[in-house]
Amino acid sequence: MMAQYLEIKAQYPDALLFYRMGDFFELFFDDAVAAAEALDIALTKRGKHLDQDIPMCGVPVHSAEGYLLTLIRKGFRVAVCEQMESPEEAKKRGSKSVVKRDVVRLVTPGTLTEESLLEARRHNYLAAFVTVRDVSALAWVDISTGEFHVMPLTPVRLGPELARLSPSELIVSEAQETDLAETVSESGASLTALGRAAFDSQGAEKRLCALFGVGSLDAFGAFCRAEVSAMGAIVEYLEITQKGKLPLLRPPVREAETRVMQIDAATRRNLEITHALSGGRAGSLLAAVDRTMTAGGARLLERRLSSPSRVLDVVQARLESVQFATEQALLCRDLRDALRKVPDLDRALSRLGLDRGGPRDLAAIRNGLEQAVHIAGTLPDDLPRVLLQAKQNLSGHDEVLDLLGQALIAEPPLLARDGGFIAAGYDDELDEMRQLRDEGRGVIAKMQSEYQAATGIASLKVKHNNVLGYFVEVTATHADKMHADERFKHRQTTANQVRFTTVELSEMETRILNAGGRAIEIEKWLYDRLKSEILSHAAEVAQAARALAEIDLATALADLARGENWVRPVVDDGRALEVEGGRHPVVEQSLRQQGGAPFIANDCALGDQADIWLLTGPNMAGKSTFLRQNALIALLAQAGSFVPATRAHIGLVSQLFSRVGASDDLARGRSTFMVEMVETAAILNQADDRALVILDEIGRGTATYDGLSIAWATLEHLHEVNGCRALFATHYHELTQLAGKLGRVDNATVSVREHEGEVIFLHEVRKGAADRSYGVQVAKLAGLPDSVVARARVVLDALEKGEREGATKPKALIDDLPLFAAAPAPEPHAPLRSSAIEAQLREIHPDDLSPREALQVLYDLRAKL
Ligand code: ADP
Repeated sequence: MMAQYLEIKAQYPDALLFYRMGDFFELFFDDAVAAAEALDIALTKRGKHLDQDIPMCGVPVHSAEGYLLTLIRKGFRVAVCEQMESPEEAKKRGSKSVVKRDVVRLVTPGTLTEESLLEARRHNYLAAFVTVRDVSALAWVDISTGEFHVMPLTPVRLGPELARLSPSELIVSEAQETDLAETVSESGASLTALGRAAFDSQGAEKRLCALFGVGSLDAFGAFCRAEVSAMGAIVEYLEITQKGKLPLLRPPVREAETRVMQIDAATRRNLEITHALSGGRAGSLLAAVDRTMTAGGARLLERRLSSPSRVLDVVQARLESVQFATEQALLCRDLRDALRKVPDLDRALSRLGLDRGGPRDLAAIRNGLEQAVHIAGTLPDDLPRVLLQAKQNLSGHDEVLDLLGQALIAEPPLLARDGGFIAAGYDDELDEMRQLRDEGRGVIAKMQSEYQAATGIASLKVKHNNVLGYFVEVTATHADKMHADERFKHRQTTANQVRFTTVELSEMETRILNAGGRAIEIEKWLYDRLKSEILSHAAEVAQAARALAEIDLATALADLARGENWVRPVVDDGRALEVEGGRHPVVEQSLRQQGGAPFIANDCALGDQADIWLLTGPNMAGKSTFLRQNALIALLAQAGSFVPATRAHIGLVSQLFSRVGASDDLARGRSTFMVEMVETAAILNQADDRALVILDEIGRGTATYDGLSIAWATLEHLHEVNGCRALFATHYHELTQLAGKLGRVDNATVSVREHEGEVIFLHEVRKGAADRSYGVQVAKLAGLPDSVVARARVVLDALEKGEREGATKPKALIDDLPLFAAAPAPEPHAPLRSSAIEAQLREIHPDDLSPREALQVLYDLRAKL
């Protein structure tokens, strides 16, 4: 066995080998050590190899999925090695034969299909990046839904694209592995390197043509060699990991970079589009706007928010659908009720395709299509384009529906293995077999009375055990009568009983067993037939799934728009970014949840008179919130959603950039200021005149004058060279003077009111410059000791005075100012004055009180107030 193990393991050096032994998957040697640690399970030993103990650990087969998930999350790959025959079969081949085993699947982060291992509402992408003679391409697939995409891509754009798609695994060639390692690890994807052969574009073309059953790939678009090679590498990798069983892939769709709003990784992080800064979904824009009812709808929303369109026609078409749904409140509610019952069709289909599914997946397809038909019936004919197309794709599945409707019971079991999922009346032989099996017991009970009558022994019983099967049992006193009847063959005598069998009984037993076995065999056969029937309609089912997702998304966005008072934005290809009464969707929701002050809506007006707003105002006034809300409004609009405002007019945004000065990024080992500058450089080098740029406190990460100069120069560059729209928040008040010089820069400020030395944040954005920064007041709010706040005021006054008078340097100031005198320490606590209440409290022994007495005490105390 060890020899077999080592032979198989040698083929999978990079993966942990799950070696099936009966009811366990066992791991040996280094695999065992690594897995025991990662899974926190016991490490044992078994036998010796080259005189050394062999480390071993194992997980039960029935709970293997959970362990697999942990290992995959921790970055391992797992080769699942199954027994390919039963021990009996092995014995037949020879007494010493080891059971045949083989790897049936290589489990990697990008190739998961199990429901329990996937997040239902998120995509799980496997991607491949290839460079062929200086041209590069990226292909990606979600094997759990069959979606397949490809696009040409220059290597510098790889990082942003990985950020957009966040694939769990990226395939590259061994030659590129080292070069790309950093970019890939920043994206969080796991990196898989394949040999050159996997990327051969000619071989790839053949593989792809064979897969999609076409003579040439031209049918799907004109792909360059790098694209073909990237798609080919994905298919090759799927063949390796799925051991030849290819998932159902849809024909590849070519994506063009120019069709979607470009958003780089830093911007995505910063705007918390699909993930909050804390890493999870909660707190992200996605979580705040997701009201979809189905997993497919949720995934579509995630895609839309990750890749807002910049094609006017597409944006308008999507907005039309949402508008239609907002106007038809009743219809919208009915649709959402129906959608609630729609299962995850895509993933059910994909599991069936990979032969990892079961009867429940068939039922999911039946239930989903039934709802689809119902929904199609609910929808009127007069629909906006996208919904009309969706409606058309919802019907025409009668054949599949009839078949599944007749064949399946209402709620079938998960696995086909044990049968019990085919409806009665669907297959005559199956019905007969089941009847035989079920009636068997009744027949045997009948035999018992026959035997009793024939022998005259009233206490005669027919029983069953695993050794004898069915047998007749009488007490020893009646044994003679039994021996007299030659039908009964003596089998066993125990202390008080004697047991016999009869030919009839054994025949009946065989029939029951056979009927049960046969019934399962028939069901399995029917299952396979149903499965292939469904798979032959896979494309239509997938289309219905897509249509359901589209309807789900439109109605979910409409529900959101109505519930939150959002409006349809006017989108055109002008340069406007005009928002009236704009709100930040996430901050507004969280303020509401906290039940405190309401969110203050604010206007923004770029494009007409100014391209850039320079926003000043104290910390905590709401500058970042304002900046981000406008970026999010543009993003939502182009994703096809209504927006949180009373009016919005958005000229299509080609690229969205958002940077925050000096955020902590120690994990990446660069100084925060360096990161800030690298990211700012990226904007200044890339932003075109259609870009929207959001800069929050750029320059904050360095000394004042450096910072001011950098912010200054950046602002000028955006204005003069990039010519983009921008919102620029800064606490350098000196910059406000620039607005006078730069024609398309306007000053704006977030107002605060000062009241008896305290600041009150109004969160109102208005034109004009902030008069001062109120830093000291904010510090006071934050709870800095009074003595420090007082001292800061003195220093500030002196500094401001110095500045006005034009001369004093901070150095001189240090000499001039009287020394810091900490305010006298607060008086030591006066001994607690004992009030009557305290005296009474001290007398109480809570443990001795009954609930009633406790209540009385509370009344008494209250009365003393
Ligand atoms: P700044 O960037 O000026 O330091 P932030 O944008 O981070 O300020 O806002 C600080 C806090 O003020 C936010 O966490 C939010 O709770 C609150 N806030 C910001 N804008 C508004 C608004 N328009 N209405 C109500 N509260 C707001």
